[in-house]
Amino acid sequence: MKVRVIGGGLAGVEAAAVLAGRGHKVLLSEQKPVRFSPAHHDPNLGELVCSNSLKSLSPATGSGLLKEEMKLLGSLILEAAETCKVPAGGALAVDRSAFSRAVTQKISALPGVEIVREEVTSLPEGPAVLATGPLTEGALYEALSALSGECLHFYDAAAPIVTAESVDFGAAFSSSRYGKGGEDYLNCPMTREEYLAFWEALTSAETVILKDFEKREIFEGCMPVEIMAKRGPDTLRFGPLKPVGLTDPRTGRRPYAVVQLRKENAAGTLFNLVGFQTNLKFPEQRRVFSLIPALKNAEFVKYGVMHRNSYLNAPEALDPFLRLKARPDLFVAGQLSGVEGYLESAATGILCGLWASLLLEGREPVLPPAETVIGSLVRYLNAPNPRFAPMNANFGILPPLPSTPRDKTVRNAALSERAIEEMKNYTARFRADGKTNGSAF
Ligand SMILES: Cc1cc2nc3c(=O)[nH]c(=O)nc-3n(C[C@H](O)[C@H](O)[C@H](O)COP(=O)(O)OP(=O)(O)OC[C@H]3O[C@@H](n4cnc5c(N)ncnc54)[C@H](O)[C@@H]3O)c2cc1C
Repeated sequence: MKVRVIGGGLAGVEAAAVLAGRGHKVLLSEQKPVRFSPAHHDPNLGELVCSNSLKSLSPATGSGLLKEEMKLLGSLILEAAETCKVPAGGALAVDRSAFSRAVTQKISALPGVEIVREEVTSLPEGPAVLATGPLTEGALYEALSALSGECLHFYDAAAPIVTAESVDFGAAFSSSRYGKGGEDYLNCPMTREEYLAFWEALTSAETVILKDFEKREIFEGCMPVEIMAKRGPDTLRFGPLKPVGLTDPRTGRRPYAVVQLRKENAAGTLFNLVGFQTNLKFPEQRRVFSLIPALKNAEFVKYGVMHRNSYLNAPEALDPFLRLKARPDLFVAGQLSGVEGYLESAATGILCGLWASLLLEGREPVLPPAETVIGSLVRYLNAPNPRFAPMNANFGILPPLPSTPRDKTVRNAALSERAIEEMKNYTARFRADGKTNGSAF
């Protein structure tokens, strides 16, 4: 029997590699070059559609830790990246076309993997892995939509997320507008001078150049904060930064403008900047939003992005093993499952490949421990969340240490060490009992 994997992107390739590594036969369907999404151009597999950066290598960062865990899980994507690195300081960056070539060569060389270049237009018979990415469209999108209904989202914009510990609580206060609804929001007040300096910086900051297909879809329904600001110095003060109904307890007065932060997770370790959907370049977001006094040292775990992105409302649509609740024989991997980022997408591909393999081997799938960043990420996807939005790998989603070191570097090193140990134990449990062809763990 051949296991179907639909989509030869970052997630699909990883899923196929794990399945093949455990001795299963795989039929990997990829629509390129028969059909290209508006962002895909390279006929090879594992295409990086935008930046060539796979982010930090340091295990003291969420993305660095993710890499360490993925290496233990035998990531094909990371092996391919090693062969075509380009200098990028402490980050892992690659030559994009050499990378896709290397991915294609590696997956094509695996025994048991058959690659078919075809557009899949209906949901496959299971067990199967669906990994068609955030630009899934056409008949397949319709089929998924019909099955998952309102669980299939399409968003144009997301606001940045910062860690709670990096917010200066001394320069902020908790309160809902007019005192209604408890203390759900953390308010970051600004004086007139602070606001005007922020407004100047925001309206002159550099933005990402949008592709045509994105421009069309974004501006109809959703307004980036910098575009709203350009309408005039007071527009934001009557919009997302309005101070009405808020009194700063430090002054007893209404601030000139207020940025509101909303808890992003139940643990309250992450905050979302309300109304700050933006298309500014990432370094510009750091520079401009750090002018908000309470955010002067803010650590951004996720920057605001604006591009077309279809994803499942994971807490509603998926079970803990990323299977569609409505079709438990169908695993959903990659950005479509509600994670965000190249490597996060690839990581869920590895997990879906492993879980599908275990089922085929008559074993039960098991989640990676919560202490690993991958384990935390899949648990995040499954936790009830009325405002679910895609999430990336970061330390804010990890359970805290039993005693938390005050120093962040020490703390992150300890979190990282704990995660790597846990991932070693996890992979040891699923070593392929002699079935492996050497490519999977
Ligand atoms: C415009 C844009 C820019 C992005 N930029 C970044 C970035 O810079 N950094 C970052 O970390 N993340 C970025 N992302 C987010 C995300 O990391 C990527 O989209 C990532 O490629 C997702 O991996 P995936 O495997 O889920 O999907 P993809 O890599 O998109 O792979 C899906 C594959 O499935 C194929 N496919 C689709 N439909 C079918 C079908 N019906 N039949 C057969 N095959 C099909 C596609 O051709 C593609 O090869 C971006 C996303 C978008 C949309």
